[in-house]
Amino acid sequence: MSGQGEKAPEKRACSLYIHIPFCAAFCDYCDFYSIALAPGENLPDRYIEALLFDVEKQLSLFRPGDVPTIYIGGGTPSLLGAAGARRLLGGLEALLPRETGDGREVTIEANPESADEPFLRACREGGVTRISLGVQSFFEPSRRAVHRAGEGKDLRERLALASEYYGAGLSVDLITGLPFQDEYRLLKDIEGVLSCGPGHVSLYALTAEPGTPLNVSALPCPDEADRLWIRGRDALEQAGYAQYEVSNFSLPGRESRHNIRYWRMENWLGAGPSASGTVIDDETGTGRRFTLPPDAEAYLAGRAPVLEENLDRLTLLKESLLMGFRYIEGPDGELFKKRFGGGIAEWIPQTLKVWRERGFLAPGKTALTREGLLFLDLFLIDAFIEIDSHQPAAAIYAQGQTNP
Ligand code: SF4
Repeated sequence: MSGQGEKAPEKRACSLYIHIPFCAAFCDYCDFYSIALAPGENLPDRYIEALLFDVEKQLSLFRPGDVPTIYIGGGTPSLLGAAGARRLLGGLEALLPRETGDGREVTIEANPESADEPFLRACREGGVTRISLGVQSFFEPSRRAVHRAGEGKDLRERLALASEYYGAGLSVDLITGLPFQDEYRLLKDIEGVLSCGPGHVSLYALTAEPGTPLNVSALPCPDEADRLWIRGRDALEQAGYAQYEVSNFSLPGRESRHNIRYWRMENWLGAGPSASGTVIDDETGTGRRFTLPPDAEAYLAGRAPVLEENLDRLTLLKESLLMGFRYIEGPDGELFKKRFGGGIAEWIPQTLKVWRERGFLAPGKTALTREGLLFLDLFLIDAFIEIDSHQPAAAIYAQGQTNP
């Protein structure tokens, strides 16, 4: 309990991520935690109850000053169906009442097959401001080759319907580097998506995650896959969608505020099996990460032990660079300095100098250019080697004893 005259801890804003780990069918390239629902089956009510209980518990534990963004991802959140969406969104509303005009961003992911009109209406009436639709590609040979459910014609109809409900609040996911995809097919996919006027597009390069059943022999070679992604990037930019992160493009003002908070290493809570949350103390540059095990049965039974990790300063410092340089504006310099004492230029001066000379840093910014983003991994290797080269000092600093 606080003593008299003791300063009350500042209440920090936390975003909220909610994981819906159910899918009607499994895509070969996916390594997210998800379990199967029978065709036509909606999410069990008891899962929604468990989620709301989890959220309530975390809110009472962390007491965030504000929850500026909520993201409901998966899995396939549209398997909630209209009734499930109303139940979940109504429960969240009761836990986190919205002030009129408070501008909270609420995003839900959906697959076209299950994003029908009643679901879209329930989402809009329940306060969802953005819908992220997983189209991936309209080209059926590509979809079939990776066992992605849904057919091209139905996808177009659902996309048009989602656009009617959400207008520029619609975001669409596309994938490059699929089997049988070529430049013509990719540009057709982009044209088809943009004809519905989404405010936001995510363009992901397919990666072969270990342990997934993806048939890598059917994929284009890495050079061709890179060329395709760059061609897609250029097409989106020519259509007025600015790249603001490695895989994300938007019309002005339509960026995902929730994801920007991840890239800038703000705080977030995570509810649902396999979800994780991170809460950072700005004064010490240390934090805690809470991860729920990927086990829906244990979660439903209320016996899912939370894995808690302490994040030291050096770990968080590197993670802040790793996440921050994904974003076209770079890491939040002020927040970085507050947390880690020295500014970014004090921690990685050589890396910044070399990459600026190569023309891969934006003029006047501590951020990569769009061409620089293509080499993000190499940039981070340089940055981490430089940080580790003053490891003794950094390690001491990580324990909060001195500055770099
Ligand atoms: S629908 Fe999404 S979460 Fe489910 S298997 Fe496919 S990619 Fe993974």
